[in-house]
Amino acid sequence: MRIVVVGGVAGGMSAAARARRLDETAEIVVLERGPYVSFANCGLPYYVGGEITDPGALQVQTPESLRAALALDVRTGHDVIGVDPVARTVTVSTADGVDELGYDALVLSPGAKAVRPPIPGLDSPRVSTLRTVDEALMMRARVTGGAGRAVVLGAGFIGVEAAEALAKAGLTVTLVELAPHVLPPLEEELAFYATHALARLGIDVRAGVAATEIEHGAERDVVVLGDGSRLEADLVVLSVGVRPDTEVFERAGVACERGAIVVDEHGRTSQPGIWAVGDAVVSVDAVTHVLRPVPLAGPANRAGRFVADDILRPATARPIPPTTGTAIVRVGDLTAAMTGANRAALDAAGIDYRTLHLHPGQHASYFPGTSTLHLVVHIAPADGRVLGAQVVGEDGADKRIDVLSTAIRAGMTVDDLVDLDLAYAPPYGSAKDPVTMTGFVGQNVVDGTLRLWYPDDIEQVVTEALVLDVRTAGEFARGHLNGALNVPHTELRERIGEVREAAAGRPVRVMCHSGWRSYLAHRILVAQGFDSASLSGGMETLAAALQMRAAAPQPARA
Ligand code: FAD
Repeated sequence: MRIVVVGGVAGGMSAAARARRLDETAEIVVLERGPYVSFANCGLPYYVGGEITDPGALQVQTPESLRAALALDVRTGHDVIGVDPVARTVTVSTADGVDELGYDALVLSPGAKAVRPPIPGLDSPRVSTLRTVDEALMMRARVTGGAGRAVVLGAGFIGVEAAEALAKAGLTVTLVELAPHVLPPLEEELAFYATHALARLGIDVRAGVAATEIEHGAERDVVVLGDGSRLEADLVVLSVGVRPDTEVFERAGVACERGAIVVDEHGRTSQPGIWAVGDAVVSVDAVTHVLRPVPLAGPANRAGRFVADDILRPATARPIPPTTGTAIVRVGDLTAAMTGANRAALDAAGIDYRTLHLHPGQHASYFPGTSTLHLVVHIAPADGRVLGAQVVGEDGADKRIDVLSTAIRAGMTVDDLVDLDLAYAPPYGSAKDPVTMTGFVGQNVVDGTLRLWYPDDIEQVVTEALVLDVRTAGEFARGHLNGALNVPHTELRERIGEVREAAAGRPVRVMCHSGWRSYLAHRILVAQGFDSASLSGGMETLAAALQMRAAAPQPARA
């Protein structure tokens, strides 16, 4: 049997390696267009920034090491330019000409390619994407060769990593993002912290604006933005998104949806004998069940393994699971991580949800060095199922997002989060871990013990309700909502008459710093017969959301 794999990095090489481990006799040929296989694309930004110093470390394997360890026939510089699914052949272009190669099973893992928007001047030699080892080598050479100013177009994961790397390497960096905030999949109230972390790195963030032109210069290029700003650049990193690299295969009759290869739960395409994995395919979202590409390394590697199983052990091969899209990125001194559906995805899918905001300590407050974690968790109001979660913080965001991702994968509810036994000693966490606390808050919301109001409700709240601020007088003096009544939560029982008088029959909307004291106050108010609700995440969340909205560009008036 001959298995031919197109694309020799994440998904393709996982399929090839697993195939060899299952079948010692199969002929396994890997065709890779570029000069490298099995390279660490996720490590490229860290080489550009100088944290990874050895370029050789980016090459996890070579054709020689793969031949020695796995008897794989790895051919670099082999570009697949055609497929005949009936004759079961691929057409391959190499430096020596064009050739044909037959297959019994064909695995497509061609990945994605960078989106190149129609910006005049994008063909400047100072503009580059960051997707290959050669591009990383070139950027590092520019950095060490005296480049002083960089403009990064696109503040998704790779754009943020590139901006961080270049800033750490000493360049003056501007990060430009068309969406209203950096890391667009992150909720705005958490993007607030990422924006500030980028500012602490000295990065000038321009959100809500597009690059309209790149003027080529003798010494430097100038990136012109839609708002008229002109940014000088020795280096421009283009990172505005990716799209599946599938034209060849679509032309050959492999069914695609908006350019992404459609596969079944075993990675089989519409053409018998052809499987596909990785950034080039659509995956089923575990929460919304919509089909979408998920350009992440973990799902690509896993799917490669599963596809090899389906080729060689079809009777026992497990289906490729829907993905929760779990992703994480370092942003200076912070980590931002997300899993499952965000607000936009839930809204688009018409799924009802409630959002929880928490700001717990990463570990026991009495142990030195604790920092705050900011959590946004979406749950189903009917049964408390966890639908999506995002965590930002200096320390511990990674482990919380992995627990919450596991919870989503397992279909767990807020009750299940409470029931988890999580590792605890003071340097690592709290007896009531942030995940446990999420469960407690979620239980209270589902059973009605806690009723929440949100930053989105602010206009209605200030016009129709009494805002009761239960922070201390000192906190209140440092900033509060206009018209709010300040009664610290410890004095509320004694001063309830004052609240009744001020409310004058109106609902009471309670707030504090993070949502904990307002919850205590809410319970007192409910017992006293008030129509009460507590601000989700408190002033911390409200301030973050309102500041992000104030900073966002206003839509042009008609
Ligand atoms: P790839 O790994 O991209 O491999 C596709 C290969 O196919 C390419 O080498 C290409 O040259 C080759 N190819 C394409 N067409 C042909 C053809 N016709 N003939 C022959 N060869 C062809 N993901 C994470 O989860 N975490 C991260 O931190 C992370 N960081 C990243 C940082 C960067 C800079 C980049 C670029 C990506 C990052 N990713 C990260 C994404 C992750 O690398 C991809 O999701 C993953 O590599 C996809 O695997 P794949 O096999 O589908 O495609």
